[in-house]
Amino acid sequence: MPTETFEFQVEARQLLQLMIHSVYSNKDVFLRELVSNASDALDKLRLAALRDDLPDVDVSDLHIELEVDKEARTLTVRDNGIGMSYDEVTRLIGTIANSGTAKFLQELREAEDAAGADGLIGQFGVGFYSGFMVADEVTLVTRRAGETQGTRWTSRGEGTYTLETVDEAPQGTSVTLHLKPADSENQLHDYTSTWKIREIVKRYSDFITWPVRLLPERGEDGAESGEAETLNSMKALWARPRDEVSDDEYHELYKHIAHDWREPLETIRLQAEGTFEYQALLFVPAHAPHDLFTQGYQRGVQLYVKRVFIMDDCEELLPPYLRFVKGVVDAQDLSLNVSREILQQDRHIRMIQRRLTKKVLATVKDLRTSAPERYATFWREFGPVLKEGLVTDSENRDAILAASSFASTHDAEEPTTLQAYVERMKDGQKDIWYMTGESRRAIEDSPHMEAFRAKGVEVLLLTDAVDEVWVDAVGEYEGKALRSVAKGEIDLEGDREEKNDTEKEQQGEEYAGLLGWMSEHLSEDVKEVRLSSRLTVSPACVVSDANELTPALENMYRAMGQ
Ligand code: ADP
Ligand code: MG
Repeated sequence: MPTETFEFQVEARQLLQLMIHSVYSNKDVFLRELVSNASDALDKLRLAALRDDLPDVDVSDLHIELEVDKEARTLTVRDNGIGMSYDEVTRLIGTIANSGTAKFLQELREAEDAAGADGLIGQFGVGFYSGFMVADEVTLVTRRAGETQGTRWTSRGEGTYTLETVDEAPQGTSVTLHLKPADSENQLHDYTSTWKIREIVKRYSDFITWPVRLLPERGEDGAESGEAETLNSMKALWARPRDEVSDDEYHELYKHIAHDWREPLETIRLQAEGTFEYQALLFVPAHAPHDLFTQGYQRGVQLYVKRVFIMDDCEELLPPYLRFVKGVVDAQDLSLNVSREILQQDRHIRMIQRRLTKKVLATVKDLRTSAPERYATFWREFGPVLKEGLVTDSENRDAILAASSFASTHDAEEPTTLQAYVERMKDGQKDIWYMTGESRRAIEDSPHMEAFRAKGVEVLLLTDAVDEVWVDAVGEYEGKALRSVAKGEIDLEGDREEKNDTEKEQQGEEYAGLLGWMSEHLSEDVKEVRLSSRLTVSPACVVSDANELTPALENMYRAMGQ
């Protein structure tokens, strides 16, 4: 097959332009991205081998190699991992398929101006393309394990790339960066310097479980002198004592597994000893991914068995309402061939799930008192997801409620806990009042709120879709019923004393004619017209039956398949 030239997709081109012209100061991260891809490729190959999918492939020395050629000004990152087929190269490298990049571009469009765009580069993993921050030409040669032909991909990042098949290609992938001319003013950016490379690998990729070897430089005669040097310690962070690992190291691991360039909001460690041993290292991201509520969202944490990577998105380890949590679980006593089917049945996996769930919920709850600002970020990003658990996980309902907070008429800014609401309840107030709606503003303007405002009774203002559902599922808190101000008859404390029964009867007779007339004329639209004590200013309002589904709720149940 001859060399063919292709055009990058529009979006890929935009991204490349940004990479090429980036003034983003931390260009070092390109190496982290390439090493991270190589590491993923080695994980995939070992897994395939464990499953006997590739019987003829040698997996005895899986590693990553870095090679510098000072004369030619090239840096090569090479792995003997799974490699890519021709089709995979076009699909994975020629387009921007990965979700991190899609999200990056989405936010980029929102940022609009160049200054905003540059800040964004620092926050996102743009993966393979980040090589163009430091190179004016990138060549990738790859051969998929088990296939005979390889593929060469080349681009200068300027709108087109070329593809050709090659006969002689070692299994795995090598990425060669032709480095931009040396920046004489800034020696910090000389990526042909071996100390520079050592430093970057140590800083960003130390925990990578495969050896990252720096090949010796070739002398004048082209012969290598000396031995390859392994740059990373390869120690699994979750297996090392807490006080030996710095926060930065944890954060780098998070970035590697979550494909996120930003720091996580919280790191959670857990060690279980005894009959069923495992270690977990979990992260709460600082931002909700844009696809968190879509069907395709890949939830789950990485599963390792005795330090061996088994799978990426192990869903069985956390419930769906904690799907934003990233991390690693390393179990000692599972089989290396464990399949999804086995995981779904496994009693130990269920035990781990229960324990991790409780730990995450407890951590969030603690965050509220120990780091209120971080808790506020958490709640803004993940509150709507967490509340799904109030409906689906009755075992942990109390823990979820304790980790939750709600906007309230008590304070215009600060949300409240149910606990604090109950403590503020007026003498004789029996119920916890709430109202659901589109926005805080819309709820506050509702006529349903009038009597509550007049009497100074606090109302929770619930604006997430899931709120309609959980209030019904939960029903009560500490013996106090959760009640909507917009449903059924209300009996605010004090009403009964003000108006005795005879008074009510008299009123009823007085208005009987009007009510009858209204009932008749509105019979198409309403079930009943009655006198109300809930209004102070508005003459009338529409009320649902106490146990009637609101439209939003009906939709929600349908979405949940019930
Ligand atoms: P991400 O790693 O977030 O998916 P990248 O841009 O870094 O995004 O890489 C895109 C895809 O290209 C990877 O998901 C992987 O499928 C493929 N890829 C990149 N580098 C390699 C490699 N060294 N070996 C095999 N596949 C690779
Ligand atoms: Mg990557």
